[in-house]
Amino acid sequence: MRILYLLLFFLSCFCLTTSLYASLDFTDQERAYLKEKKQITMCIDPDWMPLEKIEAGQHIGMTADYIAILEQKIGIPIVLIPSVSWTESIEFAKARKCDIYSLAMVTEERKQYMNFTKPYLSIPVVVATKTDKFFIAELSAIKDKKLGVVRGYAFGEILRKKYPEMDIIDVDSSHQGLEMVNQGELYGFIGTLVTIGYEFQRNFVGELKIVGKFDKTWELGIATRNDEPLLFNIFEKSVTSISEKQKQNILNQWLAIRYEKVVDYSRLWKWITGIAIVLIFLFYRNFLLNKYNKKLEQISITDKLTQIYNRVKLDDFLEQQEALYQRYQREYSIIMIDIDFFKRVNDQYGHLTGDKILINFSKILENNIRITDILGRWGGEEFMIISPKTDTDEAYILAEKLRAAILKHSFPLIGSITASFGLSERNNDKNSTLNELISQSDQALYDAKASGRNCVNKFTVHP
Ligand code: GH3
Ligand code: MG
Ligand code: MG
Repeated sequence: MRILYLLLFFLSCFCLTTSLYASLDFTDQERAYLKEKKQITMCIDPDWMPLEKIEAGQHIGMTADYIAILEQKIGIPIVLIPSVSWTESIEFAKARKCDIYSLAMVTEERKQYMNFTKPYLSIPVVVATKTDKFFIAELSAIKDKKLGVVRGYAFGEILRKKYPEMDIIDVDSSHQGLEMVNQGELYGFIGTLVTIGYEFQRNFVGELKIVGKFDKTWELGIATRNDEPLLFNIFEKSVTSISEKQKQNILNQWLAIRYEKVVDYSRLWKWITGIAIVLIFLFYRNFLLNKYNKKLEQISITDKLTQIYNRVKLDDFLEQQEALYQRYQREYSIIMIDIDFFKRVNDQYGHLTGDKILINFSKILENNIRITDILGRWGGEEFMIISPKTDTDEAYILAEKLRAAILKHSFPLIGSITASFGLSERNNDKNSTLNELISQSDQALYDAKASGRNCVNKFTVHP
C-alpha cells in the first residue's frame, strides 16, 4: 500500500513538471484560453520547400519541426488545414478558418487580420536569372525589368510599394517562376535563398544563377489571428523560448544534410546510369561475341555439305574415346562406311546430284544410329561412326541395320545405292594405338569392297 502511495507521489511530481514545462509561463488567462480552445488550426504554404510543404496530406519541412516544438510548449494540438496554394491559405486565414500561419513575414496588408511574433527564421532574399545575366548591385538597377514573385508573398507587396514602376508578375510557385525565367518569359525571379537554392539543385542545374541579394533579409515568424490577442501572447512566448541550438539543429537537418543528400543522390544516379550503360554495352558485346563464337565453333566442327560432324570433330571424338579406353579400358568400335561405285553416280548424273545423294545418305545414317553413336564425314563419300562402349559384335548389328536401311532406300533419280562397311574395335589384344585401330577398319572396308561390296566386314588378321 505504501509503495502505491509512493508511486502516486512520483507520478504526480512528474505530471506537475511536464505540465509546467508544457505551459511555459503562461498566465491564468492564457491557460484558460488554451483549455477552452482545445486545438489551434494552422495554414501553411503547401509548396515552399525546404521551408514547408504539404506532402500526402502531411506537413513537412523546417516549419513542421518548429511547429512540433511549439505544440509541445503550448500543450494543445496544432492542426493543419490543408490548402492548395498560399493564396488559398490567405483566404482561409482571412475567413478565420485557420488561427495561425506557420511562417509569415509582416506586411501592412497582413496586419489588418494577423498579428506577427518575433521572427524565428531569417532568410536572405535573392534574385535569380538565366546564367547570361549580369550581377545586380542594387535592385533599382533592374526596376524596369519583368520580375516574378509568388502570388501573395510578402516581398511582392513590399516591392510594389518601394518600386511602383517595377513590373512585378505574380506566379503560383517558386518552381513556376523559375521555369518562366528559364523560358525567357521573366527577366528574374525574387525569392528566398533557401527555396531558390532548393529548386536550383533539383530542376535547374547550370541553367540559372543568383545575380543579386536584397540588403534586408526576410524575417519570418508565426502569424496569429488578430481577433484573438491571447493567441499572439502564447505564440510570442513560445517562439522566443526556442533555443538557438534547436534552431541550428533544424537548419542543419533541412539545409546542410538534405542538400548534401540531394547532391549525392544526383551524383549517385549519374554514376549508376553511367555504369549501367557501360555494363549493358559490355553484356551486349559479350552476348554478340558468344553468339559469334558459338557460330564459329559450330562451323568449325560441321561438314558444310551434309551438316554432320566433319573430320576435325571426328578426330576429337576419337581422341576422347582413346583417352577413356586408356584410363578405364572402356572399349569402343569404329565403323568405316564407303558408298559403292559412287564415281558412277557423279559421272552419270552430275556432281550436284552426287551432292544430294551424299546429303540423303548421311540422313539415313543419322536416323538409324543409336543416341550414343557419333557420326561424321571422314572425307569424300566415306563416313565414320564411333560407337562408345561397343565391341565389333554389337557394331556389326548396327552396321547391318544401316546397310539394310540404305539398300531399302530409293534415292531420287538414281534409285538405290549400296555401301560397304569396315569394322574394328579398340582392344589391346588386337591393336595398341588409335592409328592402328583406324587402319584396321580401313583394311576391313577394303576387304568388304574386295569381297563384292554391299556388306559389313569385321577386321581380321590376314593369314
Ligand atoms: P568404290 O568405293 O565402290 O570402290 O567405288 P567409288 O566410285 O565410290 O570409288 P572412288 O573412291 O574411286 O570414288 C569416289 C568418288 O566420290 C570420287 C568423287 O568424284 C566422289 N566424291 C567425293 N566427294 C564428293 C562430293 O563431295 N560430291 C560429289 N558429288 N562427289 C564426290
Ligand atoms: Mg571412296
Ligand atoms: Mg566409294
